Amino acid sequence: MLTKQEYIATDKQNYLPVFNRYNMVLDHGEGPYLYDIEGKCYLDFLAGIAVNIVGHNYPPLVKAISIQASKLIHCSNLYYTPQQVTAGEQLKQLSGMDRVFFANSGAEANEGAIKLARKYAQTISSDKIEIISALRSFHGRTLATLTATGQKKYQQGLGPLPEGFIHVPYNDIMALEDIISHKTCAIILEAIQGEGGVNIPDPDYLPKVRELCDKYGALLIMDEIQCGVGRTGKFMGCEHFGIKPDIVTFAKGLAGGVPIGAFCTTEKIAQAFHYGDHGTTFGGNPLACAAASTILEALVTEDLMTKATETGAYLQAQLGKLQSKYPTLIKDIRGYGLLIGMELSIPGSAIVGDCLAAGLIINCTAETVLRFAPPLNITTQHVDELITILDAVLAKHL
Ligand code: PLP
Repeated sequence: MLTKQEYIATDKQNYLPVFNRYNMVLDHGEGPYLYDIEGKCYLDFLAGIAVNIVGHNYPPLVKAISIQASKLIHCSNLYYTPQQVTAGEQLKQLSGMDRVFFANSGAEANEGAIKLARKYAQTISSDKIEIISALRSFHGRTLATLTATGQKKYQQGLGPLPEGFIHVPYNDIMALEDIISHKTCAIILEAIQGEGGVNIPDPDYLPKVRELCDKYGALLIMDEIQCGVGRTGKFMGCEHFGIKPDIVTFAKGLAGGVPIGAFCTTEKIAQAFHYGDHGTTFGGNPLACAAASTILEALVTEDLMTKATETGAYLQAQLGKLQSKYPTLIKDIRGYGLLIGMELSIPGSAIVGDCLAAGLIINCTAETVLRFAPPLNITTQHVDELITILDAVLAKHL
């Protein structure tokens, strides 16, 4: 085994320099805690960015993966497997959709959703090609999804980008009314923008977007990759706003850390895809689907969505007390369930670094927003532990 410094030095020589990594080498996890190779313990309130929704080393997940690994890890999508059929049924039921496709990541799920929307729109009119998305959104790193992403920094130097993508300010229905037309193929939105700073729309925004889509025959794609799978207290973030999408995408928490993505749609829209129109080698393999099944079952049997609501309310209340204590430092606290942002009046990166040194993992997005996206099965004691560390760190940054 190498030392921490040796691992880091070797990685710096080998890996593409696209991540700004912290000086830590992780070894294992247990519940909401992570341990590095030197034995230091961290309370994990980031959960692999909203991925480890049942924490680390969750026994039913470990068991399901181990059993499946000893039976069949992978087979081609040319064949049926019980694991994919079961996970598909569960996802259909929880999302309220009719059809499912499994991919390997969020970007791939969105890429598939965009392809399906384009194919469907072609059944209506050949010039119905425009995809509208929101500024400050994040939809992935493939060429189509980074073009849908409403942040220039992800697109720089990567042109020519795919055509037909338009961005409007998030939560601005008038901007959307101005741009939507019969040429609009789809609107893709996050119910709560995650990477963009945990941005929550007004209660009537998404219902009005739904109305506009219906008026112009455009599909509404909800990207639930970060805010879905129970994280906000409901299976999909858009349920808080009482709307139903035409296509919905999932990834991150869906298999509790095993790579997976999915997009789901209605029977009518699904009919736009025919044999050969889409595919994947790994997507929905039995290992990933056994993991997804375990997670989807745990969401229901362990009442994880209610837990996310209740523990999330407690976390927001405790963060609110910190806001009263540090009013010049903390501008806003917002979120649903266990996807919570704390907007600061200063850049958050130094605070994240100090938290890490004190044994707490959080992150900062959109430069000034501390993001909390812990496992859904944390307790109020874990919240208290977070608050104690954060309180001490914030006091240093006054
Ligand atoms: N969509 C949203 C809302 C996301 O937050 C992310 C990742 O952060 C993605 C898509 C891309 O997912 P992945 O990194 O699995 O490709």
